[in-house]
Amino acid sequence: MKFYMPAKLYQETNCVKNHAKEIETLGSRALIMTGGSSSRKNGSLSDIEEVLEAAKIPYTLFDQVEQNPSLDTVMKARDQGLEFGADFCIGVGGGSSLDAAKAAALMIKNKDKGRDFLLEAGNSNEAIPIIEIPTTCGTGSEVTAVSVLTNPDTKKKGSIPYKIFADLGLADPNYLKSLPLTILRNTAVDALAHLWESLINVHADRYTKMTAEAGLKVWSENRDILLGERQAEDADFSAFMTASVMAGMSIALAGTSIPHGLSYTLTCRRNIAHGRACGYFEAGYLSHADKEARDEALHLAGFRDLDDWRSFYDVVSDHLKVEESLLETAVEELPEAKLALAPFKCDKKVLREIAMDL
Ligand code: NAP
Ligand code: ZN
Repeated sequence: MKFYMPAKLYQETNCVKNHAKEIETLGSRALIMTGGSSSRKNGSLSDIEEVLEAAKIPYTLFDQVEQNPSLDTVMKARDQGLEFGADFCIGVGGGSSLDAAKAAALMIKNKDKGRDFLLEAGNSNEAIPIIEIPTTCGTGSEVTAVSVLTNPDTKKKGSIPYKIFADLGLADPNYLKSLPLTILRNTAVDALAHLWESLINVHADRYTKMTAEAGLKVWSENRDILLGERQAEDADFSAFMTASVMAGMSIALAGTSIPHGLSYTLTCRRNIAHGRACGYFEAGYLSHADKEARDEALHLAGFRDLDDWRSFYDVVSDHLKVEESLLETAVEELPEAKLALAPFKCDKKVLREIAMDL
C-alpha cells in the first residue's frame, strides 16, 4: 500500500488572502490562467490579483482556457508565460484551468521543447511551482497529479503522461456560490464518479477507502440540493468542496476507471460536459462490481439501490439519453489503461453492457 499525495491544501473561507505569505514564497513573477469569465464574477481572480499586487509580484493573465483545454492552448499560455519571465503558475477556475496550468508549468520548465513533449512518456515531471484555486466542485485537480488535455489533431482527450502535483491548493467554498445549478450538478457528479471509481478499482486498499468512504459520506449530505429540493447554504458549499477534494485524493491514489474512459467520447464528439458524461456510465459500472462493494458504494452516497441512483441521475443529467451508435464508438475508443483498473473481468461484451447499462 502506498499513500502519496504531496499537494498542500487549505480549504476555508477567504483562503487565498489568508495564505498570502505562502503564495509569495513560490515565485517572483506569476502566470495566472483562467477561463473566459467566471473567475472575474466569483471573486477568485480579484483575490489572487490583490495578494500579488500587495506583495509587488508582477503577473500576466492568460484568460483563454476553454473547456477540455487543448494542447495548443497550453502552448499559447506557455509562450505568454515565457515572454513575461514567469517563474510560477496559478490556475484559477474549474478543472480545465487547473489542468492547463499544470501543463503550462511543465512546458515553462522545459522551455526548449515543442508541443509533442506534452504527449511523450518517460520524461521528468519537473515543472515550475504551481498554485491551484478551484471554483468548481468536481475534478479535485488541486490535489491530483493529473492534467487532462485535448489533442486538436485527433480530437481525443486524455491524461498527459506526467505526474504534476500543485505546490499549493487554495479551496474557498465561497467561489462555488456563483455556479449555475447545471454546472453544480455536473461537477458534483464528477466528484461522485471519482469516489466510486476509486472504490471499485484494482488499486482500492485501506488508504483509498479512507478518502473515498469519507468523501461519499460528505457527498451524500447534498443530494437534495442537487435535486433542486433545497437551497445551498454556507455549510453546504463547504461540503461540496470537501467531497470534491476527497474525491481528488482518492483518484490521486487509485486513478479513474471505465466510466471516465468511456466519457471522453461523449465529451469530444457531442460536447457533453465531463461530469455529466461520466455519470452516464456509473450504473453500468456499478452493476458489474461485486455485490457487496456495489451496495457499500451506493449506500455511502445515500442511494438505496441502483435504480435509486438511476432516477437521481436522470434528473440531474436533465434526462440525458445517448444514441447507441455513439456508445459503440465510446467502447471502441476506450483507452486500454482505464480497462485495466476495473476489478472484474472486462471483455468487449462486458464493456458494451457497461456502456449501454444492459
Ligand atoms: P470546466 O471545464 O473547468 O468549467 C466548466 C464551466 O464552468 C466553464 O464555463 C467555466 O467558466 C464555469 N465555471 C467555473 N467555475 C465557475 C463558478 N464558480 N461559477 C460559475 N461558472 C463557473 O469544468 P470542470 O468540470 O471543473 O473541469 C472539467 C475538466 O477537468 C475536464 O477537462 C476534465 O477532463 C478535467 N478533469 C481533470 C481531473 C484531474 O484530476 N486533473 C479530474 C477530472 C476531470 P469560465 O470558462 O468562464 O471559467
Ligand atoms: Zn472526472
